[in-house]
Amino acid sequence: MKTIKVSVVTPDGPVYDSDVEMVSTKAQSGELGVLPGHIPMVAPLQIGAVRLKKEGKMEFIAVSGGFLEVRPDQVTILAQSAETASHIDVERALRAKERAEQRMREQKAEHIDFRRAELALQRAINRLAVSEKRF
Ligand code: ATP
Repeated sequence: MKTIKVSVVTPDGPVYDSDVEMVSTKAQSGELGVLPGHIPMVAPLQIGAVRLKKEGKMEFIAVSGGFLEVRPDQVTILAQSAETASHIDVERALRAKERAEQRMREQKAEHIDFRRAELALQRAINRLAVSEKRF
């Protein structure tokens, strides 16, 4: 089976490097699946899960936005933060979710801190979903 190399890179260093059969991401424009031989492109990503099919099994990585770059034999995902399912601290994500929900209750929807809390909530929910492989 044909494969494509996927690298996920953050400011703290590489998080994932592997040859996979398929990679699926949540681009700003919607779900974006990449198979070997995909045309070269660059796309901004949403907070979401990167889904990888490797040796017939699915693997998941939580990413907090960033960019996807597709080249003929390589996909690179550059993200502010990224965690594989096994590296997610569920307690921490639950605390972050609680904190964000509390801040959203205290702020008006148009306030800049509301938006910040909303993004923190999205990151926490995404981490919880990836840790539970809920897709
Ligand atoms: P928190 O409020 O818990 O720090 P956050 O969403 O604000 O959450 P980020 O700024 O996205 O955190 O990430 C900061 C660093 O902490 C990154 O290296 C990220 O991978 C890591 N990180 C954040 N939350 C978790 C988690 N629940 N499990 C593992 N690593 C995490």
